[in-house]
Amino acid sequence: MVAMEKQIHTDVLVVGGGIAGIQSALDMADQGFKVIIVERQSSIGGQMIALSKVFPTLDCASCITTPKMSAAAHHPNIQLMVNTEVNQIETIGAGQQVTVTRKATYVDPEKCIGCRLCEYACEIEYPDPFELGLGAIRAIAIPFTNAIPQKAVLNPDYCTTCGLCARACPTDAIDYAQEPQTFTIHADTVIVASGFALNSLNVKPQYNAAQSKNVISPLTMERLLAPHAPYGRVLRPSDGKIPTSIAFVQCAGSRDETIGVPYCSRVCCMYAIKQAMLLSGALPMADITIYYMDIRAFGKGYEQFYQNAKAMGINFVRGKVARIESAPNDDMLLHVELTEEAVDPCRQQRHDLVVLAQGMLPQWNVSEHSSLQRESDGFVASPDVINPSATNLPGIFSAGTASGPKDIVDTITESGAAAMAARRYLHQQKGDKNPDLSTDKAAVHLVQRDAGEIRDGQTVQAGL
Ligand SMILES: Cc1cc2nc3c(=O)[nH]c(=O)nc-3n(C[C@H](O)[C@H](O)[C@H](O)COP(=O)(O)OP(=O)(O)OC[C@H]3O[C@@H](n4cnc5c(N)ncnc54)[C@H](O)[C@@H]3O)c2cc1C
Repeated sequence: MVAMEKQIHTDVLVVGGGIAGIQSALDMADQGFKVIIVERQSSIGGQMIALSKVFPTLDCASCITTPKMSAAAHHPNIQLMVNTEVNQIETIGAGQQVTVTRKATYVDPEKCIGCRLCEYACEIEYPDPFELGLGAIRAIAIPFTNAIPQKAVLNPDYCTTCGLCARACPTDAIDYAQEPQTFTIHADTVIVASGFALNSLNVKPQYNAAQSKNVISPLTMERLLAPHAPYGRVLRPSDGKIPTSIAFVQCAGSRDETIGVPYCSRVCCMYAIKQAMLLSGALPMADITIYYMDIRAFGKGYEQFYQNAKAMGINFVRGKVARIESAPNDDMLLHVELTEEAVDPCRQQRHDLVVLAQGMLPQWNVSEHSSLQRESDGFVASPDVINPSATNLPGIFSAGTASGPKDIVDTITESGAAAMAARRYLHQQKGDKNPDLSTDKAAVHLVQRDAGEIRDGQTVQAGL
């Protein structure tokens, strides 16, 4: 049963705590606005916190995401609402009424101190969703090592209510009777940063992913390559063997009208090249082949990144993979049509691990939950070409992959633009046509922070 509860007001509500939502929230909060980030998962960080390294710099993804997550969590103007889903956005006058539901986690977040004693006491394990099932997690646990906030969550699908966690908890935070709660939040402006999801690994049955554990998602490969990977090294899922011949099949879920995704997902070429480079470092003896239609290396430094991969010995094969069959020893047989071979273009090639470049889809269908319009591809519509973060509704802006596939650089840039557009909107609502940054509360906060007068939300003496 869902209980209707309290009403809250904020300057800005951000839908989604991925890197886009975090960046928009920080930009607004640094300008003195009160921000609420609503995130349906148990931690902020979105898809980026699960990546291994990022192209084109090969920086560790969690090393650059965690400080931003932490900055958002400790910002005096930002409130995090995790385990909470935005259900509806309704324009009322000049503001937005947002209905959200906080899921039951069976742990009181006010009381939980993140000590993990409940997790250590729990005797039930299930496939870890953060590791995409490659490892196991306890039925009550902090979702992953650098999750923010560090609060335990109980999974009712696996909990046996044995009481071990409740007895271990030093703050009496376990609440087996907790129920979902619905809140209404009145926000002067909303930034939609609801991100992307990949289409099903089985969207093309001819690739045999449903039958073989060794046809994997690129997100699974990210976890296998992560610095704190579940196995500590790259092993193939079916039998734990170290792979010796790895194939990347590009455009496996995009640029294909027959599966309803005619557009390019934009980042697949680059993350396949990145993963191939990381694999050649982790498995120097392995053969690595990328089967591609075109290589789209559009960003700054991306073409050089591609050339570096070729120089490292990664095989780039221009061709379309028609189907993938199971072969002896859990290997896979790829039937490939080489598009540059006029005579005898069909080949068969055996690999022991295959990564499918799935297509990027919108994670949240905005038009089912608001009057926001979507493009034909399902992403949030951006009707104004010179203000791409604007939507069809005044006061609602979009950031990051909610409005279309993009890499992290473009996501961050657009998130800053969305924050700037939201700030301009708020000033216009207050009748302040020419806001002077040097006199508003934003600048006061920034000046105080830079002078060392504010640290972690506490006012301290400058110079300490
Ligand atoms: C395999 C792979 C590797 C990649 N590698 C790179 C790379 O190396 N370099 C690079 O530049 N880019 C890379 N990318 C792209 C990068 O992941 C994205 O650009 C970035 O993560 C987009 O961030 P986002 O915040 O827009 O979306 P997300 O990370 O998807 O965040 C959206 C958040 O919104 C939340 N949410 C959605 N709906 C709701 C709702 N109704 N209520 C509450 N919360 C909601 C979700 O739970 C999620 O946390 C890669 C992508 C993939 C698939």
